[in-house]
Amino acid sequence: MYRSAASVERLITLLGKLPGIGPKSAGRLAFHILKMSAEEAGDLTDAIRAVKEKVRECDICHNISESSPCYICLDEKRNRSVICVVEEALDVPSLEKVESCNWLYHVLGGRLSPLDGIGPDDLHLKALLDRISDETKEVILATNTSVEGEATAMYISKLLKPLEVKVTRIARGIPVGANLEYADVLTLSQALEGRREF
Ligand code: ZN
Repeated sequence: MYRSAASVERLITLLGKLPGIGPKSAGRLAFHILKMSAEEAGDLTDAIRAVKEKVRECDICHNISESSPCYICLDEKRNRSVICVVEEALDVPSLEKVESCNWLYHVLGGRLSPLDGIGPDDLHLKALLDRISDETKEVILATNTSVEGEATAMYISKLLKPLEVKVTRIARGIPVGANLEYADVLTLSQALEGRREF
């Protein structure tokens, strides 16, 4: 059997561990990297090192940032009376493409998933409750429309009930079971406009 150089094999194995990358794609990427100039390849490794060294979680909203508080939490021009709750930090840039999303965020760091052993204590729920103040007029639950995302939204709405804050859930437009990160701007903006009170 043909075997490549050990270092190439290692690169293929590591690339193959990335989500959505099968063995064939991993091989193609590895050979693409081989053809890069030393400078281009260096930029890539620097970028990977930099995100691991510099990026951290915002202590307030748990979004990823190079500083804490993050730039969104610090932004004075935002509507600070609305907190939009999302599952993962990668949902924030998707929503930020919608012009009307000029609010604050709260990143849960996942969704309730008993089968995977993820319970309420594994999400940033206490931090969310701590953030609700007299200033808070609405909490938008923008978790995914999957079964787990819906269950998580339901759980949070019950948690927020005693605080008497308006709780809404994103609505039409997002197909059931879909991930927000894959939704286009128009669909997201319709889903946000059509949010209904829980
Ligand atoms: Zn923040």
